[in-house]
Amino acid sequence: MAAVVLGKGRDRRIKAGHLWIYASDIASVDEGAAAGAIVEVRDFRRRLLGRGTYNPASTITVRLLTRQADEPIDRGFFERRLDDALAYRARLFPGETTLRLIYSEGDGLPGLVVDRYGNHLCVQIGTLGMDQLRPLILSVLQDRLQPLGIYERSDLSSRAHEGLPPAEGILMGSVPEEIGVNLDGLEFRVRLAHGQKTGLYLDQRLNRREILPFSSGKRVLDAFCNTGGFGLYALKGGASFVLGVDLSEACVVQARAHAELNGYAEQTEYRLENAFDLLHALDRRGEKFDLVVLDPPAFTKSARSVAQAWRGYKEINLRALRLLSSGGILLTSSCSFHLSAEDFVAILREATVDSERSVRWVGLHGQSPDHPINPGVPETRYLKFAVLHVS
Ligand code: SAH
Repeated sequence: MAAVVLGKGRDRRIKAGHLWIYASDIASVDEGAAAGAIVEVRDFRRRLLGRGTYNPASTITVRLLTRQADEPIDRGFFERRLDDALAYRARLFPGETTLRLIYSEGDGLPGLVVDRYGNHLCVQIGTLGMDQLRPLILSVLQDRLQPLGIYERSDLSSRAHEGLPPAEGILMGSVPEEIGVNLDGLEFRVRLAHGQKTGLYLDQRLNRREILPFSSGKRVLDAFCNTGGFGLYALKGGASFVLGVDLSEACVVQARAHAELNGYAEQTEYRLENAFDLLHALDRRGEKFDLVVLDPPAFTKSARSVAQAWRGYKEINLRALRLLSSGGILLTSSCSFHLSAEDFVAILREATVDSERSVRWVGLHGQSPDHPINPGVPETRYLKFAVLHVS
């Protein structure tokens, strides 16, 4: 098998647990290494470090799949990785059929994400290497899980770095327009073909539960509500009213449908509006809420725009703090990898000072554990979720 040979000292990241090899780490590539194929990775003395997928067109040129000298990347490899991922989740979420089954580097399968919605799977393939392994992956998923259908949501802009076009559609079986799922007793309809991401934002699953104990009889603002997840949990916890806002019409329509489906239509209002503008307007009118949820999209996708993102997060958190009544609760998130947990805490501290409110930290959480963090790959840890009590 052709090998990619790293420069002297260029194996440090891999030895520290990371799975990515950058073009700048590579000293030479054996003849016959084909784009998308499996290659060996060797240090400058040609000692084997592992095997991974190769893409000379990408700055992340190799993604390591195994460090074991005697482990070929074949059907057995994918069966073992999937079985391991399923066993881990069965311990965390016994009997649950709506969850992320494979989280890329977090499950030792860089470039592959698989979500399960009952009898249907949603697959996202981010790299050329995984794209070429697609028949094998689909066959193993089919074999192990017997889904009624598999949908692909590889409409990722990052695929361009891999020289791949976006890809979307049914890969196997049939997939209905809407898949009904139940989370903690709440009914959701997942629209794989139209929704954002790979269906539902499963990474916030456990964080949504944090709202339950604070909700009874409360007025809630659910900003960046998507299909209404946090607000519905608040209603389940006894909230009297939820105002949701999202900039996507499809999301607002679906949030209304979810409220209706769960019997909360009367207690909800969903607005198609920019949440920045709404927060500003509510604040100027002196309106008050008992609970405010902030779950914006990533304000920065690169290290370069962190300062700008910082201002965005600070603005919405400051406004939210000002909107809260005494004893109010702020549930606030950041899913920008480039903004660290320390940065997020600092932003919340600044916003607290500027709002002239006094605040207690109730908790600081991360992504649900079906999106496991690989400690060697910092990029797998992205979600920050803070709960603050305002006096
Ligand atoms: N809280 C949601 C997930 C939020 S995802 C849940 O629990 O499922 C972020 C959402 O922000 C997306 O639905 C996106 O459409 C919306 N969004 C992005 N920019 C926005 C803006 N400026 N104002 C309002 N919504 C926005």
